Amino acid sequence: MQMATVHNPTRKATGRVWLITGASSGFGQALTEAALAAGDTVVAAARRPEVLDSLAAAHPDRMFPVALDVTDPARITAVVAEVLLWYGRIDVLVNNAGRGLVGAVEESTDRELRDLMDLHFFGPAALTRAVLPHMRRQGSGAIVQMSSMGGRFSFAGVGAYSATKFALEGLSEALALEVAPFGIKVLIVEPGAFRTGFAGGGALQQSAAIPAYEETVGPVRAALPSTDGKQPGDPAKAAAAILAAMEAKETPLRLPLGNDAADAISAHLHASREETLTWESVSRSTDFDD
Ligand code: NDP
Repeated sequence: MQMATVHNPTRKATGRVWLITGASSGFGQALTEAALAAGDTVVAAARRPEVLDSLAAAHPDRMFPVALDVTDPARITAVVAEVLLWYGRIDVLVNNAGRGLVGAVEESTDRELRDLMDLHFFGPAALTRAVLPHMRRQGSGAIVQMSSMGGRFSFAGVGAYSATKFALEGLSEALALEVAPFGIKVLIVEPGAFRTGFAGGGALQQSAAIPAYEETVGPVRAALPSTDGKQPGDPAKAAAAILAAMEAKETPLRLPLGNDAADAISAHLHASREETLTWESVSRSTDFDD
């Protein structure tokens, strides 16, 4: 993409300029509110931007809802161009828009997999590509990737969801190394269960069930929707933690959030290390002898 230099922005930004996707609910809304409370300017992207009208009215000149479905590459290009036309800069991109999908690998259709990859991987990758020339020009910026504890490990029933978040994490791990010399930070956020719209209101999709998977996937299929409104994680506290990590001198590459995520990721890392050590001699036995 051509690097557009905006000489005469049409609006004056207060504080940093954020572009947050999926800002109409949950983490996206909590981050929008936290950024506004920090005195920054937020372009809040949502499929139904009108949901954000009252928040925008409460913050005139600092909060602007825009229509964006992140699976629409043309809209991604247009929205980034619009923000640059307004402010001449983007300081923080938050790739947050997402949803859950429960299903055994055999149950999830090709269409379901591709749609979720569009939402969790190709959309965020396109947004990242679109903002990078400008962040490089600025010599600063932050890209926050909302992954999941399911982006670090997986379990029965969430293979498709994890695949999309693993993809985002792999891309972002390389990205962090590539853009650090330009003063750009990358933060991968790995929440456990948080009280957002994620598990309720039809947001969580379920693949058509095959009875053979009742024992392994059935309990997850039933349990996830029943967590709605009872999840331990507080999105406002998550937003505060994300801001603190982003502003830290040494921003971590990955930030698990919630006791459930901290416990499960630690247990997974431990098990993974044990397995690596158990098989280490086999791993080391496969090089040529010369
Ligand atoms: P919510 O359902 O509350 O919010 C999801 C947001 O994503 C909504 O604003 C929704 O918009 C938006 N969205 C969905 N599809 C699209 C699309 N195609 N284009 C643009 N926006 C879209 O859930 P969360 O706040 O929990 O989800 C945010 C992120 O957090 C997701 O990436 C999710 O995977 C991740 N996450 C959530 C966890 C949790 O327990 N809550 C745990 C781990 C990760 P609309 O209102 O139009 O549907």
